[in-house]
Amino acid sequence: MTTVLGIEGTAWNLSAAIVDEDDVIAEVTETYRPKTGGIHPREAAQHHALYASDVIERLLREYQDKGYSPQNIDAIAFSQGPGLGACLRTVATSARALALLLDIPLVGVNHCIGHVEIGRWKTPAIDPVVLYVSGGNSQVLGHRAGKYRIFGETLDIGIGNALDKFARGAGLTHPGGPKVEEYARKATSYVKMPYVVKGMDFSFSGLSTAATDALKDNSLEDVCYSFQENAFAMLVEVTERALAHTGKSEVLLAGGVGANMRLREMLDVMCEDRGASFYVPEKRFMGDNGAMIAYTGLLMFDSGTTLPIESSHVDPSFRPDTVDVTWIADEQEVL
Ligand code: AMP
Ligand code: MG
Repeated sequence: MTTVLGIEGTAWNLSAAIVDEDDVIAEVTETYRPKTGGIHPREAAQHHALYASDVIERLLREYQDKGYSPQNIDAIAFSQGPGLGACLRTVATSARALALLLDIPLVGVNHCIGHVEIGRWKTPAIDPVVLYVSGGNSQVLGHRAGKYRIFGETLDIGIGNALDKFARGAGLTHPGGPKVEEYARKATSYVKMPYVVKGMDFSFSGLSTAATDALKDNSLEDVCYSFQENAFAMLVEVTERALAHTGKSEVLLAGGVGANMRLREMLDVMCEDRGASFYVPEKRFMGDNGAMIAYTGLLMFDSGTTLPIESSHVDPSFRPDTVDVTWIADEQEVL
């Protein structure tokens, strides 16, 4: 049985977990919540530095309280990117220190792939088209010929950031996504907004600005509703096209924006129409979490991938399609 300790800290969540092949054994999370405005990268990194040793200590205590010994841990995994540079460096430093202390290998995990793998672990999905929608990222991806290919992605900001930015302008507190969802439920009419899909890519910054402008002449409820309808339809359109092109028959939703019930409903309808299965992991595995890094680290470690300390630099724009997926045999694919 392999056991891996993983640390996530690309943005506002500092989270560490210990997993084995069967389950998450222990997990501890500390979340940075800005008092005003959005995520401030330096403040988020200071938060992570402040709580790093506390989180690891509590994690190891929880692990030992369940009757395990830290000597069982085979590797230390960490989120190597993409994310906020200052946050990534803080977490990488903790991970290196732990690997040296316990004298075990380090594994560098791509954060986006972490979301995909925990979804495959915690739902029946085997070879899905993945819609990964979070604060900083928006991507449609899937496995093909040894890599997680990006079929479509945002050309500017992530959908979560677009919702948060609009919400801030409307006087709502961070994170804005859940509040926009609440207001949207009370809308009475649709307001015309930009719909930007270029090939397989989408763009949200113009939509966010147009929504802010639309507040001058329309109710907050109607604008929130119209923003969501357009943004989510753009995401669902590209996800559907990815299904059609690849011939895959499953959709997996990942990332914090995946909590949105309207987005789930739209994906559900599309999947139903196409005869595809739609999977949503339980909420604790959708947003950023330590378990997804630990589990992906476990898959990588078991298939022979580790990272020498001297080349363990972080990469704020680390793309998932640059990682060799050594843990999936190509013949597992539905071609
Ligand atoms: P993550 O980056 O994966 O941790 O997700 C954080 C993002 O998810 C933030 O931008 C939130 O505004 C967004 N979010 C969380 N819940 C919802 C929701 N119910 N609807 C839309 N966005 C949400
Ligand atoms: Mg994420």
